[in-house]
Amino acid sequence: MKYKRILLKLSGEALMGNQKYGIDPEVLMRYAKEIKAVSDKGVQLAIVIGGGNIYRGVEAAATGIDRVQGDYMGMLATVINAMALQSALENIGLYTRLMSGIKIEQVCEQFIRRRAVRHLEKGRIVIFGAGTGNPYFTTDSAASLRAIEIEAQAVLKGTRVDGIYSSDPEKDPTATRFSNISFKEVYQKGLQIMDMTAFTLCKENGLPIIVFDMNKPGNLLKIAEGEDVGTLVTM
Ligand code: UDP
Repeated sequence: MKYKRILLKLSGEALMGNQKYGIDPEVLMRYAKEIKAVSDKGVQLAIVIGGGNIYRGVEAAATGIDRVQGDYMGMLATVINAMALQSALENIGLYTRLMSGIKIEQVCEQFIRRRAVRHLEKGRIVIFGAGTGNPYFTTDSAASLRAIEIEAQAVLKGTRVDGIYSSDPEKDPTATRFSNISFKEVYQKGLQIMDMTAFTLCKENGLPIIVFDMNKPGNLLKIAEGEDVGTLVTM
C-alpha cells in the first residue's frame, strides 16, 4: 500500500445519487463497500462528509435565516450524513467512530485529536462530522484541517469527475486531465478544486490532494495502492 493513513472527503451532494434531496441508500452502500476494500488492506481511513444534500449555510439568507444560524444548520446536516455513513459501514462489519466538531454527546464523540489518532491506530474508521465546528467554513476546509491534524499522508477528494482538467470537461470537449500538478500551477491557472481556505491549508502544510471520481468502482483502492488515478496535487 502506498498510503498508511488517508483522509477521504465526500460531498453531501454525492449521496443524493439521482434524487433531488437526501440520501440514496444505494449510493451509501456503494461508498461503504469502496471504503471497506481499502480498510481491509490495513489502510487507516478518516472521512469528512459534507451536508450539501440537506442544507447549505449560504442558502440561509434568502429564507430570512442569518448566515451563522444557517451554517450551524449545515453542520448538523453533515452529522446526519455522517450517522448514515456510520451505519452503512457498521452494517458491513467495520468498526467506526463518529467525532463531531460541535458537542452532540448522545450521538458522537467530541473531536479530540489524540483520541482520533488512537482510533485510527486501532483500525477504526473515523468519521468527522460537523465540519470544523465553526461557521463561515466548508467541509473541504474541515477535510484539510483534520487531515493535517491527524497527519494523514493525503486528502482524497471524491467527486463526479476523474481529476483536474484544463477547463470544465462537462462544457469543453478539448479539456485535458492533469495526472500531476503543483499547488502553484493550480493557483496560476485559476483551477477550482477546493475553496481557497481549504486549498491554502493544504499548500502551506505540504499536504497532497488527490481529486478523483468516487463513483468509479475500485478507484479508492487503486489510489491507496499507488496507481495513477485522478489528479495528484503536490508541492
Ligand atoms: N459548514 C460550516 N462550517 C464547517 C463546515 C460546514 O459552517 O466547518 C456548513 C456550511 O453552511 C456548509 C454546510 O455546513 O454550507 C454543508 O457543508 P458543505 O457545503 O461543505 O457540504 P458539501 O458541499 O461538501 O456537500
